[in-house]
Amino acid sequence: MSISKSAENLIGKAQDGKDLNRKEIIQLLSLPAKYSPELFAAADKVRKEKVGDEIFLRGIIEFSNHCERNCLYCGLRKGNASLSRYRMSEDEIIATAEQIKNTGVPTVVLQSGEDSFYSQDIICRLIERIRKETDLIITLSIGERALNDYNAFQRAGANRYLLKHETASLDLYRYLRPGCEWENRMQCLRRLKELGFETGTGNMVGLPGQTPEILADDLLVMKYLDADMLGIGPFIAHPDTPLAGIGHDDLELTLRVLALARLITRNTNIPATTALATLQPKGRLQALQAGANVVMPDFTPENYKTRYDIYPGRKDVGSAVAIISKLEKDFQSIGRTLQYSVGSRPGK
Ligand code: SAM
Ligand code: SF4
Repeated sequence: MSISKSAENLIGKAQDGKDLNRKEIIQLLSLPAKYSPELFAAADKVRKEKVGDEIFLRGIIEFSNHCERNCLYCGLRKGNASLSRYRMSEDEIIATAEQIKNTGVPTVVLQSGEDSFYSQDIICRLIERIRKETDLIITLSIGERALNDYNAFQRAGANRYLLKHETASLDLYRYLRPGCEWENRMQCLRRLKELGFETGTGNMVGLPGQTPEILADDLLVMKYLDADMLGIGPFIAHPDTPLAGIGHDDLELTLRVLALARLITRNTNIPATTALATLQPKGRLQALQAGANVVMPDFTPENYKTRYDIYPGRKDVGSAVAIISKLEKDFQSIGRTLQYSVGSRPGK
């Protein structure tokens, strides 16, 4: 069979929701660039059918850039001595959550480095106050914690948890996250799922040493975990990390992984990440036309936002309200509308 016939058959099979095996996923990841529009269109159709045309908003607060880990890829790593560190106080976090609420965005994502300064008690108190004072749906993205912390967070009223598996390659994981074990991350993810959190996982695309085989395994992990949300973003090299200068900045491949994630997992919530917009101004809109259905405007106060320096050149600096109104216009241009509702995974 010619490559074009077999590519068309495979894309059609994925669009119809038939299971793809690892070899088929690798084939789709490795197709020549001329097949991308067809793959993206198939993912866009499935997105429309399974999660609709609305784009859901999540307001993010990056409340601490302290981190006890040393991930080779991340500007917040403990070993980055040139970063000016901050921690937001409880009152500052609550005030920012209120701002999110006043904008009409119904969900907040609390994100930070792995910072044990925020003990189980402090995080629980924050969750309780946000629930009581704003009624926002709460997503946590604060890394690996003791399993009983997750229990406590859930009892306190947290609804969702984002913990990207980062890469499905155990060797790459060990190299990129010194002192961390992939199996521990998986255990956290399974526990979060068991506790009833809407659980998000995901990966970075363009990591050094990454192959189509590893990316196919990433997609199979997303499916195996039955994750509800998927964060798929390009790896962007940070100059103050050991991976300085070795980023691939591969927008096309990131969009292809995102499109395949939509085709394979069907009704999940998939953000068009800021990292995509950082690579290229149109990156976010392209993602929304290749399977994505969520955006996460950043409400972190300006004096902290610029110091949440995961990777360089982050877009979305400036007021979140101004950013949302700009996004609204962009989205109308592609026939999509912003949706100020909670946007849980359908069927959940
Ligand atoms: N500390 C928590 C954790 O690691 O899960 C949450 C915060 S961490 C900064 C959020 C995400 O940033 C990670 O899951 C990782 O995928 C992403 N990230 C870190 N460094 C990056 C880089 N150089 N390029 C793109 N994404 C990056
Ligand atoms: Fe810390 Fe998360 Fe960055 Fe790793 S990715 S250094 S855990 S903030």
